[in-house]
Amino acid sequence: MREKITGIRESLRRKGYRLTPQREAVIKILLENPNQHLAAEDIYAMVRRTHPEIGMATVYRTLDLLSSEKIINQLNFEEGYSRYELESQTHHHHLVCLKCGKIREFSDNLLEKVEEEIALKYNFEIVGHLLKFYGYCSSCASNRKPK
Ligand SMILES: [Zn+2]
Ligand SMILES: [Zn+2]
Ligand SMILES: [Zn+2]
Repeated sequence: MREKITGIRESLRRKGYRLTPQREAVIKILLENPNQHLAAEDIYAMVRRTHPEIGMATVYRTLDLLSSEKIINQLNFEEGYSRYELESQTHHHHLVCLKCGKIREFSDNLLEKVEEEIALKYNFEIVGHLLKFYGYCSSCASNRKPK
């Protein structure tokens, strides 16, 4: 956790930003809650426990800055708000349950080949992709079946 924060501090500094206590507090929440895909409001509520002086606007500004500097990822699951996760080394995709909202991550390389084909076909240099699947998790799917 310390090393991760040091790494983030370094990469912010290279881009001309300081790791202020507010920014560090937001990053800590994301580090302490991996794979949670927290919304800004969740992050705000958690940050307030240790930093009651931080306002919602600061949390939003911090999330915007960290997303535009690629330190965190802003995720959109068509819920009307964004969720956030730390930029991770491991590329992954999301499975989104339409009923309970649970988000599961999985890794694969099923799109590597498709990327190559699209790059060739449209003469476009692809550097990445985002992919999410919508549906029902196993417990929601079994509840949907008529008894
Ligand atoms: Zn579900
Ligand atoms: Zn994720
Ligand atoms: Zn992929």
